Amino acid sequence: MASTPSRPILIPVLGDQLTPTIASIRDRAKDDTVILMMEVWDEATYVRHHKQKIALIFSAMRHFAAELRDAGWKVDYVELNDPDNSGSFTGELFRAVERHDPRAVHVVEAGEWRVQQAIFEWPDKFDMPVEILPDDRFICSIAEFRDWAEGRDHLTMEYFYREMRRKTGLLMDGEKPAGGKWNYDAQNRKPPAGDMVPPERPLFEADAITRQVIALVADKFGDHFGTLEKFRWPVNREEAEKAADAFFAERLGRFGPYQDAMVHDEDQLYHSLLSTSLNCGLLDPLDLCRRAEQAYRDGDAPLNSVEGFIRQIIGWREYIRGFYWTMMPGLQTANALDATRPLPEFYWTGETDMRCLADCVRSTRDNAHAHHIQRLMVLGNFALLAGLRPEEVQDWYLVVYADAYEWVELPNVSAMILYADGGKLATKPYAASGNYINKMSDYCGQCTYSPNKKTGEGACPFNPLYWHFMARHRDKLESNHRIGRIYATWDRMGEAKQHEYLESAEAFLATLEPATSGWAREE
Ligand SMILES: Cc1cc2nc3c(=O)[nH]c(=O)nc-3n(C[C@H](O)[C@H](O)[C@H](O)COP(=O)(O)OP(=O)(O)OC[C@H]3O[C@@H](n4cnc5c(N)ncnc54)[C@H](O)[C@@H]3O)c2cc1C
Ligand code: SF4
Repeated sequence: MASTPSRPILIPVLGDQLTPTIASIRDRAKDDTVILMMEVWDEATYVRHHKQKIALIFSAMRHFAAELRDAGWKVDYVELNDPDNSGSFTGELFRAVERHDPRAVHVVEAGEWRVQQAIFEWPDKFDMPVEILPDDRFICSIAEFRDWAEGRDHLTMEYFYREMRRKTGLLMDGEKPAGGKWNYDAQNRKPPAGDMVPPERPLFEADAITRQVIALVADKFGDHFGTLEKFRWPVNREEAEKAADAFFAERLGRFGPYQDAMVHDEDQLYHSLLSTSLNCGLLDPLDLCRRAEQAYRDGDAPLNSVEGFIRQIIGWREYIRGFYWTMMPGLQTANALDATRPLPEFYWTGETDMRCLADCVRSTRDNAHAHHIQRLMVLGNFALLAGLRPEEVQDWYLVVYADAYEWVELPNVSAMILYADGGKLATKPYAASGNYINKMSDYCGQCTYSPNKKTGEGACPFNPLYWHFMARHRDKLESNHRIGRIYATWDRMGEAKQHEYLESAEAFLATLEPATSGWAREE
């Protein structure tokens, strides 16, 4: 077909690109552009996502389409139930090309490797110019991260974070970090306090769009993991801003000190719960960090909390994304510790006597969320110590959290909790015995197991598992200067005690029921 000036530019906007200023849209003329949004079966089911995760993304997409239309854009929106829906991005692009006869496609790079590979094929498939634009909602581009990582053995987040502080000017007093230190983590490790009454998170009532989507999810994905009853996520920009306002007003001050604390049945504590909105594009990371800094400059929040929050976003979040694109695709199959044990069924059912794990799975099922230290030091620590197979653990984390996209889930799981990358990300495995969980939570008091008992009947399983892990990976870990001295303690124990630990761990591991198949992926 001959090119005419009236042929529009077609702009596919993916489910995590819900930002009106995204690179593909911001400089376009409205009368020369068609925005294409697609609810497709392949994306909703390539793993069997938590019901709340699907409901959140579809509802946020539908709200974003309405926002764009109100602003005068032409939006072509394909719903999941459209009888002609082909089920894939590429299939839907084919149909949209037939409908609109565009002169070119402009798309922002995908967040996930898998989708990006499909986009790379579009120029050949469609025989028209396909411009792939960088996702500049991130502060650090993929190329910039690769340059920073080049030639380094360990990609220490702290050094990357300092670069990002300098680049953004956040919490900088000239060349110096505010308060004289880059990192105030030492003040941020308080166990839960008895008088702690964290404020309720703002709950957003479902409007007509969300109710419709929830009905769709219940109908089509009713057998996926998780419940829909507590669905209260922000689904549009206005709600996401309200959630951020509530965090800055009510929780930021205590965010730092209690960042690592865990309390039974208290699912949010002082965490922001903003990851779902950040990751699909309803909130801007830099804007949130500037607001946090302003709270410190105005004397409304202490530096340790503000620095901690900013570090999570311009440090960890940016670093994790750069790490993902630098390490893919090998990260998906990395297994440096040769872990082969199947994921236990209790990760799906929550049926375990280990009270900490049962509570984390419950929150995950009810909220499609668990806070960082639950993901890292309870669920993740267990997966590491028990030697669970990385691919199964990766699938679990990708399925169960409403904020889970592979770019952020995979490095956290493979490299941070499982040490499957062999230590590029973490300088040592995040391995801990029951003592850590006992110190940082109120879980243990009413647990069937005792954190103070080291082996045998009634001993907290984390205790023998910790030593079992250390002993079985001695060849790989002993030379690590951050962990090597543990082996002096192990050697001093003597053979009889060592044997008790190993036997106790083996006995516990033998009780684990492997998950029945089909929870994470279609059989
Ligand atoms: C094993 C494991 C898996 C994880 N999977 C995901 C995931 O799929 N999606 C996701 O967004 N986060 C993931 N995280 C990081 C973190 O746990 C969540 O971002 C956080 O719990 C979200 O809740 P929040 O918004 O209340 O966070 P807050 O505690 O309030 O932190 C503020 C923000 O910092 C960012 N952040 C903090 N830590 C990290 C991190 N390690 N990586 C990336 N961003 C971070 C998030 O954007 C978060 O919203 C994972 C962590 C672990 C240990
Ligand atoms: S005793 Fe062990 S298993 Fe029980 S809650 Fe404490 S850490 Fe978890």
